[in-house]
Amino acid sequence: MTEAAPIRRTAEPEVDELITGAFIAVDGDTEFEDGWVAISDGRIRAVGARSDPWPAAALRTDAGGRLVTPGLINAHHHMTQNLTRAYRPAVNGTLFEWLTTLYPLWATLDEEDVYLATYVAAAELLLGGCTTSSDHMYIHPRAHLIDAQVAATTEIGFRFMANRGSMTRSVDDGGLPPREVVQDEQAILADSQRVIETFHDPAPGALTRVALAPCALFAVSEPIMRATADLAEHYDVRLHTHLAEDTDEDDYAIEVYGCRPVEYFERVGWASPRTWVAHYVYGSDEENRRLAAAGVSVTQCPSSNMILAGGSADTVRLRSLGMAVGIGCDGSASADSADLWQETRNAMLLGKYRHGPAAMTARDALDMATRGSAHALGWADELGHLRPGACADLVIWDSSPVAQAGALTDPVEAWLRSGPSRAWRTYVAGRALVADGELQLPDLEDVLHRHRAAAARIQGV
Ligand SMILES: [Zn+2]
Repeated sequence: MTEAAPIRRTAEPEVDELITGAFIAVDGDTEFEDGWVAISDGRIRAVGARSDPWPAAALRTDAGGRLVTPGLINAHHHMTQNLTRAYRPAVNGTLFEWLTTLYPLWATLDEEDVYLATYVAAAELLLGGCTTSSDHMYIHPRAHLIDAQVAATTEIGFRFMANRGSMTRSVDDGGLPPREVVQDEQAILADSQRVIETFHDPAPGALTRVALAPCALFAVSEPIMRATADLAEHYDVRLHTHLAEDTDEDDYAIEVYGCRPVEYFERVGWASPRTWVAHYVYGSDEENRRLAAAGVSVTQCPSSNMILAGGSADTVRLRSLGMAVGIGCDGSASADSADLWQETRNAMLLGKYRHGPAAMTARDALDMATRGSAHALGWADELGHLRPGACADLVIWDSSPVAQAGALTDPVEAWLRSGPSRAWRTYVAGRALVADGELQLPDLEDVLHRHRAAAARIQGV
């Protein structure tokens, strides 16, 4: 591939930017081998083949034969965990050991820490071709931490779905976290309402939306599960939680609720198209069918699942049942990396590993990371594809010419199999937040410096 610089045009512009010379994966059905895409007012205006006439543009970018895909969408994360990445005392623990080691550190988080962590998370995600992320923020040692997250993503111009998480059960009630990071039911519901009313933007093309997200069935009380579902219904926002991530959860549910986790999930009114769940590793096939029929979506977090050795969702089976399955990077401290390209590749590998080489293609994995995740976030109308009218969230990918040498017949397979691939340009709402492989964030260096100091304080090093 040749280096290609944006070319300015002076003709009467009909659109803001035109990307030419690209292999464009528009959605699961349409691809252009030598195509162009026109962007205007933060939207995809048109997409076409080389032979189709293209509109005059204020700015033309020659993609130099690179692959263009919709921006990848991260449907599960805990951004603040990048303050405790690869923390030596926790690296070899099981999920529950890992959590109990890190909870006391997270109990010291303040607004500045959360702002810095979210800023760094968005920057890291943009480099890996991610244009929209959710974030499951369930640690609330201080008020207004989600406000700090929205401040960071708004400043960057990153599309964000804040998940107002919650925990009610501390060690005092047989739970895992210390008392400082859990809240009572009244406080959770009042703040959930405040966060929705302050930040949730249901308008088309919104940059910020809010979902409600109790941490997990073992972390919150039954009344909070029910009341959260009611609140989500009232405000018409999404519902999210961890489900069936670990077999320890099965034992807990049977002991405390007298039933399996999925049965409990159904009992508290969560099995609906409004809900997407993270991980979902240990559902039985009968439970898979029930959740698929109820319209629940799932997010697989491949690296996190492999690092914590907890098994992983059977995405091939779930997709065959008609379930929307997206991809997430999960918290930085479990996956220790927030790179959606890598997660998409790992999702492909896990699908093949489990069901054979033909079971999960690069296009299937791309479909999960784009349309699957968009569906999980209830945003499939505008995100996850490049059809005219979609939000102009897209990536022009770059791979080393060494890694791509000899890959001549299928740019999408080559993109995922012969990497690593990085974003050459990442657009959110038509703005290039990564250009020439570099983040276009003037405050990044300062933020990284402050993030390092915050991480050192939290880790006591
Ligand atoms: Zn998680």
